[in-house]
Amino acid sequence: MTVTRFAPSPTGYLHIGGARTALFSYLYARRNGGQFVLRIEDTDRERSTQAAVDAIFEGMHWLGLKSDVEVVYQTQRFDRYKALIAQMLEAGTAYRCYASKDELDQMRAEQQARKEKPRYDGRWRPAPGKTLPPPPAGVDPVIRFCNPLEGEVVLNDLIKGEMRFANTELDDLVIARGDGTPTYNFCVVVDDLDMGITHVIRGDDHVNNTPKQMNIFKALGAEPPAYAHVSMILGGDGAKLSKRHGALGVMEYRAMGFLPDGLLNYLVRLGWSHGDQELFTRAEMEQLFDFDHVSSSPARFDMEKAYWVNHQYLKTAPMEVVVPEFDWHLRRLQLDPAAGPALEAVIDAQRERCRTLAEMAEKSAFFFREPEGYVEKDAAKHLTDAAVPVLEALIAGLDALPEWSAEAAHGVVQVVGEQLGVKLGQVAQPLRVACCGMAISPPIDQTLLLLGRERSLTRLRAALAWIAGPTDG
Ligand code: GLU
Repeated sequence: MTVTRFAPSPTGYLHIGGARTALFSYLYARRNGGQFVLRIEDTDRERSTQAAVDAIFEGMHWLGLKSDVEVVYQTQRFDRYKALIAQMLEAGTAYRCYASKDELDQMRAEQQARKEKPRYDGRWRPAPGKTLPPPPAGVDPVIRFCNPLEGEVVLNDLIKGEMRFANTELDDLVIARGDGTPTYNFCVVVDDLDMGITHVIRGDDHVNNTPKQMNIFKALGAEPPAYAHVSMILGGDGAKLSKRHGALGVMEYRAMGFLPDGLLNYLVRLGWSHGDQELFTRAEMEQLFDFDHVSSSPARFDMEKAYWVNHQYLKTAPMEVVVPEFDWHLRRLQLDPAAGPALEAVIDAQRERCRTLAEMAEKSAFFFREPEGYVEKDAAKHLTDAAVPVLEALIAGLDALPEWSAEAAHGVVQVVGEQLGVKLGQVAQPLRVACCGMAISPPIDQTLLLLGRERSLTRLRAALAWIAGPTDG
């Protein structure tokens, strides 16, 4: 069975690069009917925080990337790491090294002076016929891995193709520190082994760790998993993606008004392609994703395209997906979602014209609370003395309607225009500004329908009063 994992270090929020890696891992598991597992790499206790763990969960939950089995925490597995280190010492695939920091610094300085690549010289590594010095008193040794001295590691990366690493280039890695705590590369191997990970999918900043990890796998008598190293994401200008290119945190994208699947669809195309198809449902992503079509070169983040993809989703996504997100955005603006029309109706009226849910919530605020004044330039243009007879006629017409419907409201707008001999815009625009606080809204008949008769009339009367100006006294 295919088992993949996403293994973030909880040192900050879930960023979009991490989310894409998680997505690729998740999709690959789905595609192959396997399992996707979340593992929290929290061995670095100085840098790991509970807040970051929570932020990762929050991001993964919002994206709907759920771990198929219980989440694994490295800090809960120290006994296992220690047991394996003891086993390796026993088997002779690891050894104690008593070299002090000063000694190692000196070693490095001498190598640099000889123009050699700095590396551990193997002084404490046991070898047949070699006599090691007696262990110095009072020194807690580190444990080093006996990296093979010859040959090479061949990595057949699923994205980058074949890569070869000479063992002479790889150090005898420290797998446990003086205080006995295991090191990062070692924990990763033990976890991947114990969790039965078949495919390690991660950022290509880890490529140089991979040959070391593969050697440890072999020393433990196991076959290394397959590896897929995903190229990084660059900003639009080709530089490493950073804050100045835009938001990095997944939850910032929520705040910007992305739908989870809209963001995932954008992310899946950052590096992966399926012909020239741009839009994929989640089910399609799960069926189609593969590594044959993941590019080995870095992808560039394109905010405009991300918005475009999101808009395509927003236009067609089922209500059960959009309504809860829209509700969240309204509350974020301190609006009460129950204080206006049914959210489905507002979404239907707005989804064509809004690229994000944040925009939709802002442009729909007037449905949920009285407008806080008018957009100045819109009022200056449309709420003038000339609008007074228009607004008065609208009030009379709308008030007299036997039934409140979009068609009936539309009829009133038309009749008022004809009666007063003015163009439709000269009726509709003052009406809009009066009802919505601004000159932009969904079609006016739909807007009136959603606002309801009472609210519409109240706002029209308020606009008349506003034009009349403050009354004395
Ligand atoms: N914890 C590592 C990171 O956050 C990932 C390690 C891995 O995927 O092997 O970069």
